[in-house]
Parts: sequence; C-alpha cells; structure tokens
Amino acid sequence: MSERGLLIVLSGPSGVGKGTVRKALFSQADINLHYSISVTTRKPREGEVDGIDYFFTTREEFEQMIRDHKLLEWAEYVGNYYGTPIDYVEKTLQEGKDVFLEIEVQGALQVRKAFPEGLFIFLAPPSLNELKNRIVTRGTETEELINDRMKAAREELEMMDAYDYVVENDRVELACERIKAIVTAEHCKRERVAQRYKKMLEVE
Ligand code: 5GP
Repeated sequence: MSERGLLIVLSGPSGVGKGTVRKALFSQADINLHYSISVTTRKPREGEVDGIDYFFTTREEFEQMIRDHKLLEWAEYVGNYYGTPIDYVEKTLQEGKDVFLEIEVQGALQVRKAFPEGLFIFLAPPSLNELKNRIVTRGTETEELINDRMKAAREELEMMDAYDYVVENDRVELACERIKAIVTAEHCKRERVAQRYKKMLEVE
C-alpha cells in the first residue's frame, strides 16, 4: 500500500486572492497537486465550466449531500453553499496523491478538526504588514477608518491561529513559490520519511 498523500488547505480572509493564487499555482506545468473541485449553489460566472471550476448544483441537492454526509466540510458564504466532496479527497489521499483545497475560513476550521494532520496555509493580505506603516506615516486617515482597519487586521490575525503556515500575498508568483516550498518541506518531514524507510525495511 502506498503512503497517504498530503491534504493541503489554502484559506484566508475574503478578498485576499485565494482563487487567483490557486489558479496561478495550477497553471504551472510541474505542479503535482490534485485540486479538489467544490460543489456550490452559486450560479456559474461567465466562462466557468461545470465539473472544472465547480460542480454547480441546487440548494435541494446540496442539502441532501449534507444529510448523506457526502461533504468533508461546507459553509454558507454570501448566500450560497460551498462544500468539499469527501469521496474524492479520501480516494486521492489513499492513492498517495496530494490533495489541494482552496476554501474560506469556516470550512478550513472544519477540515482542521477532521484532518488535524493536514497542512494548513493561511494566505495573508500584504495590507496586514503595511497597516501600521500606512497609518503612522500618512496621518491622513480618519479615526473611524483607522479603527475599522485595525479591527479587520486584528480579526485576520486571530484567524491565523488555526494554521501551520502564513503566506503573504504580496505578489501572486511569490505566493505560489512559497506554497510550493512549504509542500516540499512537508514531504521531507522526518516523521514521514522515517515511516517510509521503516516500511521498506519491513518488506526486506
Ligand atoms: P467564489 O464564489 O468567488 O468562487 O468563492 C467564494 C468563496 O468560497 C472563496 O473564498 C472560496 O475560497 C470559497 N470556497 C470555494 N469552494 C469552497 C468549498 O468547497 N468550501 C468552502 N468552505 N469554501 C469554498
């Protein structure tokens, strides 16, 4: 039996560019990750294809999938359901392949509970880093705006707690490189490698 693949979860605050980074990552020829296509009740956007971008479905069918325990996680986001079909994830991990999820934060928390051994990557907005600088140096923001920004930043920082790695999305290509480096490092973890060698020696 082959070693199980890694479950990689990319998540982060709304509007940080998760979809853009994921698409850029999967457009690379050397990528050896398997994207888990989500199910959603939102209407397809121009150019989106059923079975490639999402499995588009109705609310009734989605709710039936919840009742039948066919979803690893699901969330309602801006009035639509989004969820990860569990069968694909299980089957692909079982085959020793790495599965990649790009999902919003509520869903990521559910996956963390079900798969604590997964690799959880938080995509952070560069604004989080620039925040203090901008506020201090410009001095032109209203107090209300500063407070709103600080509140949003604080919430984003709290969200990070459930993740193993934080990748700043300052530039899409850089974010992709960092994600690839994290996945490579995870495959080199002593626990994983030692297990493989132990199995090899058992066979001999
Ligand atoms: P969009 O409608 O722009 O394609 O996606 C909206 C949000 O839903 C994004 O933050 C995206 O990451 C998230 N999303 C996509 N698929 C899933 C999923 O299967 N589960 C959860 N929880 N969120 C998802």
